Amino acid sequence: MSAFIPHRLKPADLDALRARYRAERDRRIRPDGATQYQRAAGEFGYYAADPYTERVSRDPVEDRVEAVVIGGGFGGLLSGVRLRQAGVRSLRMIDEAGDFGGTWYWNRYPGIHCDIEATVYMPLLEEVGYVPQWRYAPGEEIRQHCIALAKKFDLYDDVLFHTRVVDLKWDDSQEEWTVTTDRGGSFKSRYVVISSGTLSQPKLPGIPGIEDFQGHTFHTSRWDYGYTGGDQNGGLHKLAGKKVAVVGTGATGIQVVPHLARDAEHLYVFQRTPSSVDVRDNRRTDPEWAASLQPGWQQERMDNFLTIVTGGYAEHDLIADGWTGTAKLQRQMLTGSVDPNLPAAEREYLDELADFRKMDEIRARVDAVVEDPATAEALKPWYRYMCKRPTFSDHYLQAFNSPGVTLVDTADTGGITRMTATSIVVGDTEYEVDCVIFATGFEVGISGVISGTLPVTGRGGLPLLGHWRNGPRSLHGFYSHGFPNLFHLGSLQNAASVNFVHVLQEQATHIGALVAEATARGVGKIEPTAEAEERWIATIRETAPVNVDFQAECTPGYYNGEGNPRPVNNSYGPGPVAFHDLLRRWRTEGGFDEVM
Ligand code: NDP
Repeated sequence: MSAFIPHRLKPADLDALRARYRAERDRRIRPDGATQYQRAAGEFGYYAADPYTERVSRDPVEDRVEAVVIGGGFGGLLSGVRLRQAGVRSLRMIDEAGDFGGTWYWNRYPGIHCDIEATVYMPLLEEVGYVPQWRYAPGEEIRQHCIALAKKFDLYDDVLFHTRVVDLKWDDSQEEWTVTTDRGGSFKSRYVVISSGTLSQPKLPGIPGIEDFQGHTFHTSRWDYGYTGGDQNGGLHKLAGKKVAVVGTGATGIQVVPHLARDAEHLYVFQRTPSSVDVRDNRRTDPEWAASLQPGWQQERMDNFLTIVTGGYAEHDLIADGWTGTAKLQRQMLTGSVDPNLPAAEREYLDELADFRKMDEIRARVDAVVEDPATAEALKPWYRYMCKRPTFSDHYLQAFNSPGVTLVDTADTGGITRMTATSIVVGDTEYEVDCVIFATGFEVGISGVISGTLPVTGRGGLPLLGHWRNGPRSLHGFYSHGFPNLFHLGSLQNAASVNFVHVLQEQATHIGALVAEATARGVGKIEPTAEAEERWIATIRETAPVNVDFQAECTPGYYNGEGNPRPVNNSYGPGPVAFHDLLRRWRTEGGFDEVM
């Protein structure tokens, strides 16, 4: 199979490849699906504790603000900025973390970078007068940018960190929300914005005996530099003389492995499904290029990137990287559609062919880089490009050429078999280690209202999840009838993209415009009519992509519900570019009258 020549692909080859992909999927499917994982809570709560900022005691807050934003990641920060620009002076930001940054607060592992180009990922660069130093920014640079945004727009003024909102109740007589937190007491707010993220709670594999392990252990999103030494640039000097295990080879595992490989006495990489690992080509920003930038440069790059990665046409590809180069393959996964520019008879066949070619290129790179043939074979991904999140690295595959690194393939045993006080066991083989680092990802969609962790009661005592009992109901994904002045950020009944921060920025802009308009009109409530909500649900139903067939053929992972794909029916099929255009037109063509 590895001698496969892409440009000579014939239908018979396609059949063989499809069969191989199916076989690789089948050997990984587990009957327990998503329930194989366990929460980093209760006896495992220490995996989710904040290692970066001390929690200080404070008195309950019982006052009144104009707006509260739940979440201090980019969605919350951008909402805070737009609310400030809409004239909101009394604004309170809340986060469970000890500072701003969201995922960039929690994830500080060695090697952390954002794999979306910094000029399109880091929002409001021109507003703070900053040009990223690298094409793909290190995590700390992004975290510092979050802090810079918060300072610039006075978002620290009334902030509550290490605080979780546990209840929201609408008071119709006062036209305001009662916001209850886990730090005691409750306060009032006219507006509430919820931007609590989707991949925030670390999860652990349900490995038998995990609690028996007596060595050191932590999750990548709570890196223990006290144990490893070093920092996000590496230099983990305390690992000298230590045998270390890393479990998981997703986008995070790919970034930490090169540093662990360099500094541990021996590194065992426990892999279940290999990632596709493409070329990274990171480089410093050219100062001459930075000096030549004209006002509006960032929006132009962001729009260009979003257009291309969602399958639209742009004359020039300003970013020209691994994401823009695989736009067609991404669209098929996101929308279930194939390239509409191809003749009808060839569409499906040719898109699949393009996918096979890309994946063969990825597999050929493994052969070219990894010296040991058996290790190379185990590192090759056999699935379609967007079955798992693509990754990029110029150091990960190379790490396996070090004699101090062992790849332990656990595909046939469905992952790690068990753990003992001193070791990890796969099948009959036992690996003694001093430290186990879990790069096993995050619970999907656990935060926010949809999971029920934040109960919301609207007008007339109506619970939000009661209103949504047959699925989410909203206008444009932002707000629901019966729940005035409550706005959600996220991908629900909205439009998603790999550069999700761009989508969040448009959402924050829309919410800011709504609040500014309500203030100008002197109205106390922003709430969609039942008819407007119903019309949007019908639009979503008509346009929502159905990509279950594509997903069903994929190896299990969080993209396909661990092998149980379900029709999602909650996003706007024409994609984010069309959606943002729709919102702009709605704002200028009388849309506000539907909600105030
Ligand atoms: P993932 O959920 O993507 O990966 C978890 C890994 O753990 C997988 O390799 C999984 O294997 C493995 N695993 C789980 N259980 C076991 C087990 N019992 N035995 C062995 N292996 C196991 O988490 P990540 O933290 O890597 O990434 C999560 C998301 O965070 C990414 O998809 C991305 O959206 C984001 N991210 C973004 C980055 C960026 O640069 N923008 C960088 C890092 C993360 P299997 O695949 O077989 O389930």
